[in-house]
Amino acid sequence: MDKWISTLLSSLQERYPIMVDQLHQWCEINSSSDNLPGLSLMRDTLQKAFSPVADSIESRAFPPRLTINRDGEQVQQVCGDLLYLRKRPHLKKRILLCGHMDTVYADTHPFQNLKYIDDHRINGPGVADMKGGLIVMLHALIAFEATPYASELGWDVIINADEEIGSPVSGPLLMELSETYQAALVYEPAMTSHGTFAKNRRGSGKLSLIAKGKAAHVGRAFHEGQNAICLLAEAITAIHALNGQRDGVTVNVGLVTGGEAINVVPDRAVAHLDIRIQQACDEAWVRDQLSCLLKKITPKDDTFTLHGHFGRPVKRVNPATEQWWVL
Ligand SMILES: [Zn+2]
Repeated sequence: MDKWISTLLSSLQERYPIMVDQLHQWCEINSSSDNLPGLSLMRDTLQKAFSPVADSIESRAFPPRLTINRDGEQVQQVCGDLLYLRKRPHLKKRILLCGHMDTVYADTHPFQNLKYIDDHRINGPGVADMKGGLIVMLHALIAFEATPYASELGWDVIINADEEIGSPVSGPLLMELSETYQAALVYEPAMTSHGTFAKNRRGSGKLSLIAKGKAAHVGRAFHEGQNAICLLAEAITAIHALNGQRDGVTVNVGLVTGGEAINVVPDRAVAHLDIRIQQACDEAWVRDQLSCLLKKITPKDDTFTLHGHFGRPVKRVNPATEQWWVL
């Protein structure tokens, strides 16, 4: 393989202008997780770019899922379709390459355009996370296909469209498909300036906590109401105090909504939590703590409800994955 490494590297070097062009084109398409037309355009663009190198490309659609919106209402959410590309599907020796086409910034956000920081660095939505990663993947595959080793290895690519919201619809399919591969690589941006692989990664959960109170008019029946915002505030303070209690566990109360008018006792308030964990067993610890602290605020079962799940499991290096680092 050694003699091919320099050939591969110089072929990638030649492709540099094409990669930069693609980075501009792809990042100028807004494909935030909730922008379905943008995701559709991004999917078509990816399909066109990958089709010369893949044997087959298919789209997988998902049914809408129930979720809790900012106001605590149950709503149906439609996520974008996933792309599944295959190469030499008859081979048993296969690797999986993964990425996502969605980005964080909605089309109403001011961060839409690319700008040069210096001659070699561009700042823009999705440049690093992860349209840039998809471009690295594509050109690595094109270069690999020009080597004689290509005929011995089957590879598949999965590009989902709901990663930035925790892969709620594509996650189960990813788990199912990933069983059949000897190895898998995800093209998220490297955490260090040397471009090193991320070996371990914390798991995460996104939960919504809804506090239910009782609405009442402030002037006519204030004492008949129960203020959901105040109940939620008590819960939030206790939840925030979980930080620092267990190694590697953090809980961020990132978004809070509640109330309709200042002359009405609010009957609903919602907090959205982003929880990061270091070990698989931390999830049970977090759930226990939440359940205990909520019961301390009120023993009533229907005051607080928790929705959501831990969609991203903890990733730990094991002896099998350790072999990657010696390559
Ligand atoms: Zn990403």
